[in-house]
Amino acid sequence: MSSDSFSSLPLSSALIANLDSLNYKKMTAVQAESLPPILANNDVIVQAKTGSGKTAAFGLGVLQQINPRFFGVQAMVICPTRELADQVANEIRRLARCIPNIKLVSLCGGKPLRLQADSLEYGAHIVVGTPGRIQDHLSRNTLVLKGLRTLVLDEADRMLDMGFYDEITDIIQYTPKTRQTLLFSATYPHSIKKMCQSILKNPITIQVESTHASNVIQQLFYQTNQQQRHEALLTLFEHHQPANSVVFCHTKIQCDQVAKFLNDHHIEALAIHGDLEQRDRDQVLVRFSNKSCSVLVATDVAARGLDIKSLYAVINYELPHDPEIYVHRIGRTGRAGETGLALSLFTDSELARIIAIEEYQDKSCTTEPLDRLNRQNHYRLKSPMVTLQIDSGKKNKIRPGDLLGALTGDAGLAGKQIGKINIFPLFSYVAIEPKALSKALNYFKNGRVKGRFTRARLIQ
Ligand code: AMP
Repeated sequence: MSSDSFSSLPLSSALIANLDSLNYKKMTAVQAESLPPILANNDVIVQAKTGSGKTAAFGLGVLQQINPRFFGVQAMVICPTRELADQVANEIRRLARCIPNIKLVSLCGGKPLRLQADSLEYGAHIVVGTPGRIQDHLSRNTLVLKGLRTLVLDEADRMLDMGFYDEITDIIQYTPKTRQTLLFSATYPHSIKKMCQSILKNPITIQVESTHASNVIQQLFYQTNQQQRHEALLTLFEHHQPANSVVFCHTKIQCDQVAKFLNDHHIEALAIHGDLEQRDRDQVLVRFSNKSCSVLVATDVAARGLDIKSLYAVINYELPHDPEIYVHRIGRTGRAGETGLALSLFTDSELARIIAIEEYQDKSCTTEPLDRLNRQNHYRLKSPMVTLQIDSGKKNKIRPGDLLGALTGDAGLAGKQIGKINIFPLFSYVAIEPKALSKALNYFKNGRVKGRFTRARLIQ
């Protein structure tokens, strides 16, 4: 058994002190198993799911190797989706905040190529991105990987499912043979084994049994019928009153219908699915993560890689056919060290799916009758924050501090009335308490940020 304290590892004292300040007191199982071989510079295959602490496992491996004085790309993480790439980039930035002058650049589709190329030219140590966009930059020579020491493939199984095999093998042609390769995958099908043979050298394979201690997520199942599914969902909200939750649906139409039903019943919800434009997707994710919306109604694809800290509950409006998808869905609640709640509705025709879930988890599913739950006639779920969209972004060199300064200084808001600030190339989003809304909007009628007249509007 390996020790579970980070200080048992050959990590710099700055990294260890930062982990302590992030409240990462103990290693998760995946970290305890994979960090020693990663830090010893081995190629490693890790079978681990979202929620296991895998990002910090490879993030620390990457950071321990970076030489900040050499301005070239030394580590690259390839992720299947933009959302996952964003989360990985954020987690690595948090882990790196103790090391001065580390530059990380995100390379994902949907963002201007030119801006990314400029950032790369300025000198990046770490690149995190999606396969298509990384390939674009390699073919234009705006990304050079001659000095790459570590290559990470995150959620490799999803990347293969999404048809990225050719892109990945093409990207690898641009990397030095001496690189260290780390591959993370939730499952380990034959296609992954085959890919590993061609891209990893004498890899060490690590498999950690389950993502969560089995009691960390409370899983409850409720039987209903097709006609009463909506009403049953409402009952779950009224009884459990989750502060925030993701409701999983099968189809885009179902997502829209369920979100509308919840809103009609005073539960503020937003739908997210593949039909949304990138800007609308960004907005929905921003509003959910900054607490301006407490319920996200999502398809599996749209929720991929979504990583919201402290997700109170995952609700299955309908059970998925594949038990692995069920486990993946509920893994979004009860992240490292927290407890979670997974609520599932099922009908007679989904009984086979329950049996598959029981077999997969090797334990029986606890069902509860819906009529034992407490209904609350006047239940309302209002989000604690609202979101302002500001018409200035990275392109105008806006930083979170500029917006915070304008709002707490000239506009006269209290610091605690302001929540998360997200900066995008052309826009920024600021979460504020509803009570402070009119003051903030008034300010932006004539107000300036960094000396420039700047407009703002409430997103609804
Ligand atoms: P991941 O599996 O990488 O998506 O990580 C799941 C969550 O656990 C993230 O929010 C991390 O910030 C958090 N986390 C990772 N490692 C630790 C740790 N050792 N202790 C506490 N939280 C952690």
